[in-house]
Amino acid sequence: MSEEPIEVVAIGAHPDDVELGVGGTLAKLARSGIRTGIIDLTTAEPTPLNEKYRSPDDHDEDYADVRLAEAQKSAKILGVERITLNLPNRRLFDTFEARCTLATIFRQWRPKIVIAMYGKTILASPDHNQAQQIVEAATFYSRLTKWEKYFNHLPVHRIKSLLYFPVRFIDLHPENYTSFFVDISDTIDIKEEAILVYKSQGFEPKATQGLRHFPSVIMEWNRNLGSRIGVEYAEHLVTPKPLRLDDFSYFMQ
Ligand SMILES: [Zn+2]
Repeated sequence: MSEEPIEVVAIGAHPDDVELGVGGTLAKLARSGIRTGIIDLTTAEPTPLNEKYRSPDDHDEDYADVRLAEAQKSAKILGVERITLNLPNRRLFDTFEARCTLATIFRQWRPKIVIAMYGKTILASPDHNQAQQIVEAATFYSRLTKWEKYFNHLPVHRIKSLLYFPVRFIDLHPENYTSFFVDISDTIDIKEEAILVYKSQGFEPKATQGLRHFPSVIMEWNRNLGSRIGVEYAEHLVTPKPLRLDDFSYFMQ
């Protein structure tokens, strides 16, 4: 067990999910001295890889080591802790085993805030929505008494808040959730660097189409969100609870 709790923990189905969604927010929290972490539920293997990593006669090679090295490098750039679990990619399901595996890490890391993915990626990986359900269940399991045998005999830990980052751009105001934007203007460069580490995915800084183009699309999206709150770049998070706000000076700027 780590001595100090990791106070804010974001969870993705695959390495790179969290960076794309809330990489700037995590870097910002880490910079401010808050211990921050990422849990990937799978290694994302098998996956289609950038051809640079593939020899002509490769068909079913496992590149988990490449993905793990990229994930660790990206975490170092963001300044966060990271663990990549080995739950099954492409057939990730909200099972009792998956819930207990994640809740065991929660009991070790003892976060105050957990950040999950939100929503379905239709026509893309169903793992993302399963990850949301696993995180919600594991957040509850983390605080259950009389069940230590399922969590390496670790004591109960109560997580204070569960937040989300929407995986679909159009979900600006998910039903019954409260949206808030985080100013990431100071950490957008760190976020971009952390995303471009995933060379196995073919990500390139100046590409104009396909998956290679994805980092630029994310940067543009963050710029669009920033313009809505009068800053350069922002990320979108949601909370299932209303936000308390007593200081009306916020509305007078
Ligand atoms: Zn993913």
